[in-house]
Amino acid sequence: MHSSISTHDKKVCHLILKLREQGITEMDVLEAIERVPREIFVPPVMRDRAYEDIALPIGRGQTISQPSVVALMTRALELSNRHTVLEIGTGSGYQTCILAWLARRVYSIERHVPLLKQAEVIFRQLNIRNASNITAIAGDGMKGWPQFMTFDRIIVTAAARTKPPQALLDQLKVGGLMVVPVGDIGDQVLRLYKKESEDTYALRDLAPVRFVPLLPEVVPEDAEVDIGAGQAVMAC
Ligand code: SAH
Repeated sequence: MHSSISTHDKKVCHLILKLREQGITEMDVLEAIERVPREIFVPPVMRDRAYEDIALPIGRGQTISQPSVVALMTRALELSNRHTVLEIGTGSGYQTCILAWLARRVYSIERHVPLLKQAEVIFRQLNIRNASNITAIAGDGMKGWPQFMTFDRIIVTAAARTKPPQALLDQLKVGGLMVVPVGDIGDQVLRLYKKESEDTYALRDLAPVRFVPLLPEVVPEDAEVDIGAGQAVMAC
């Protein structure tokens, strides 16, 4: 009797091997990437490319991040199932689900309402931890979570110009970690903040990256969306 491995499984294996070659060795991060089906977060015409290590367009001029960048950011957060995480930039919801796999609770904010709605459908469909550990809202993540709360971990999946917004630094617990891309397009770095006291941080630069910019305000649903020349398929 033959045991056959599906094309899908081969693609997933290939991606996991590639991430390991790049130095991602944390088994929990690799397992989350193996288990969360990236193909359901990308447009149907791109499904056969879902396990390539590339960013893909998800509509509204935004992109789903490249798996190796998702792995790098997730690893940097050193997550455990005791952690409460705030994510800015739900986008497709892929990174949200990776976080939900590893953390106790994930709060996520997205400024494009149609992307948020699409992601929420997937959250229910995937049903990670009974879909009960993700709370996603439309809003301006630069202002932080609307209720007074502090988080063990914060991840920003769009690039801040020079530093993370103060509201996010304020909502990080002392001892907590925040991973955030910083800089203008073409000159961005993924930066890790460790909050050492109420107003001191240790900073570490992890890798050069390319993200869409962090922008203020919720986008009106009927707004013309500027795709930004070449940006949609290039950014992480
Ligand atoms: N993590 C996402 C990547 C999405 S791209 C994924 O895995 O698919 C970055 C997202 O950040 C975009 O959807 C963009 O609309 C959103 N974004 C940018 N500025 C924001 C802000 N101030 N508040 C909330 N979301 C923001």
